[in-house]
Amino acid sequence: MNEPRMVEVRRKVLKENDLLAHRLRDRFQSVGTRVVSLVSSPGSGKTTLLERLLTDLRREYRVAALVGDLATENDAARLARSGAPVKQITTGTVCHLDAGMVERALEGWAVEDLDYLFIENVGNLVCPSSFDLGEDLRLVLVSTTEGEDKPLKYPTIFNTADVALITKLDLAEAVGFDLELLIRNIHGVRPGMPILQVSARTGEGIEGLEHLLISNHTESKLAQVQ
Ligand code: MG
Ligand code: ZN
Repeated sequence: MNEPRMVEVRRKVLKENDLLAHRLRDRFQSVGTRVVSLVSSPGSGKTTLLERLLTDLRREYRVAALVGDLATENDAARLARSGAPVKQITTGTVCHLDAGMVERALEGWAVEDLDYLFIENVGNLVCPSSFDLGEDLRLVLVSTTEGEDKPLKYPTIFNTADVALITKLDLAEAVGFDLELLIRNIHGVRPGMPILQVSARTGEGIEGLEHLLISNHTESKLAQVQ
């Protein structure tokens, strides 16, 4: 008897989230702010990559970040080293961000003054896939220190992201990582998904990623003008 009700409540929560995310997306697009979110399992290198992106992009663009975790403000403190405005969203027992959390975190921020807003989701490959945050671009990270079968185990997160990033490339050899197998598995779940390989530590592939972010931004601005 309880189950149908749970399903009903869950559907309602997701519907409300979708409406709010839609509103956020309209708001971001109307002021030309590009919103990029990062999802992955815990420890895949989201924060390290983001620190690098904020540091680099800040030279030419107005950038800021929101970062979600169950507890601690550690990641916000790390990201703040880039010099960009950063806000931690502490979710307590909730293992994902939702659009309402993003909207509340942005209170008092002049979103229209930003070229890029990055959102680092809570490390989790399951429920973040159900929650639209109003972002334009969702990056899913898989590190070389994880199993190559992650896409097969968590297909939904790959299907709701736009680009896959293989991170910690510098550790690939040490852990006997099979790059071709991971690429095959990603494309098995999501044919044609763009894949970039990066190492935030050595800087390999970072320029390519930044080009992708910048060119996508230009395209969406062009689309807006037309
Ligand atoms: Mg983090
Ligand atoms: Zn969750």
